[in-house]
Amino acid sequence: MSVAATETKLIAPHGGELVDRTGERPEGVERLETLTLTSRELSDLDMLACGALSPLEGFLGREDYESVLETMRLASGLPWALPVCLAAEAPPKGDRLALADSAGRILGVLDVSDVYEYDKEREAQQAFRTMDAAHPGVARLYGQGQLYVAGRATVFDRLDPPFPELAKDPMETRAAFAERGWKRVVGFQTRNPIHRAHEYLTKVALETVDGLLVHPLVGETKSDDVPVATRVECYHVLLDGYYPPGRVVLAAFPAAMRYAGPREAIWHAICRKNYGCSHFIVGRDHAGVGDYYGTYDAQLIFDEFEPHELDVEPMFFEHSFWCRACGSMASAKTCPHDAEQHVFLSGTKVREMLATGELPPKEFSRPEVAAVLIEAYRA
Ligand SMILES: [Zn+2]
Repeated sequence: MSVAATETKLIAPHGGELVDRTGERPEGVERLETLTLTSRELSDLDMLACGALSPLEGFLGREDYESVLETMRLASGLPWALPVCLAAEAPPKGDRLALADSAGRILGVLDVSDVYEYDKEREAQQAFRTMDAAHPGVARLYGQGQLYVAGRATVFDRLDPPFPELAKDPMETRAAFAERGWKRVVGFQTRNPIHRAHEYLTKVALETVDGLLVHPLVGETKSDDVPVATRVECYHVLLDGYYPPGRVVLAAFPAAMRYAGPREAIWHAICRKNYGCSHFIVGRDHAGVGDYYGTYDAQLIFDEFEPHELDVEPMFFEHSFWCRACGSMASAKTCPHDAEQHVFLSGTKVREMLATGELPPKEFSRPEVAAVLIEAYRA
């Protein structure tokens, strides 16, 4: 393919090579001991398969796990911010496990290299900066098995993507970027509908690079986040109406939310590098939940790495708003006017308006997007 030749213009995957852990279904898989994965573990497995978690080839062994918790780097020294681990209640009997979803469908195998105990509270404190069981990521951690099972994964049956037209592996987004002749690409992570504020920052970022990857997370989120089908419809109407098609790729990010705030921001940036992004947008309280993290923690954490270490360049943004006096979108960095001039609505207020069928001001939300959300709230 000609892709390989042009692809060299794009940023290299993390660690240098895009991992591919897809393979043939081995003989006798049905006779192996089976481990049933949680939805978060299934998301991780699928990302391991397609290279989104390059250079990882499987679930972390003890040495890498310890190193990630303590130094935000793999044992090799390569940056890696969050554990990608597979929990079990009991040690496996053999050296190969079948990995299944909750319906019993076997998706892959794990060649076990390591089984170890771990300290859940310590992991919570290091990864989530809290041991509070009310934190959704911590709650999940506390609820899982007592052991980690590590090893190389091979996946022969991929998860059915919820939106097949948006399912693009890193190889495919890279090909899409190369086809368009892009070299510098900014990735935008979101788990929410895109209102004017986020439209603004993606466009400000796009002004300085060749292309934009709108990469909404479609893995598991909290139940009170806007349902993924509604969000996807919002992205379609927004991109169709307000972005030049030759400058944007929309694809689904198959990760599950961990709500680990700062460390997840690093992890998200590294994953997007694997998808071919040279830049990554980090807003305020990226991947945060409740008030567990400081407003700028997810931006400040990038200072803990030398610039060359991550390679992917974070682009930091403030909250933005429509300013009546400026007559444009702006932020505290670019607008000198008082808050009365700013069109700003709280998330609660927006939800109230949408639930009663009331359109938020067009300076806050594109009417096409609001219409989709109103329809969803009525259903
Ligand atoms: Zn202003």
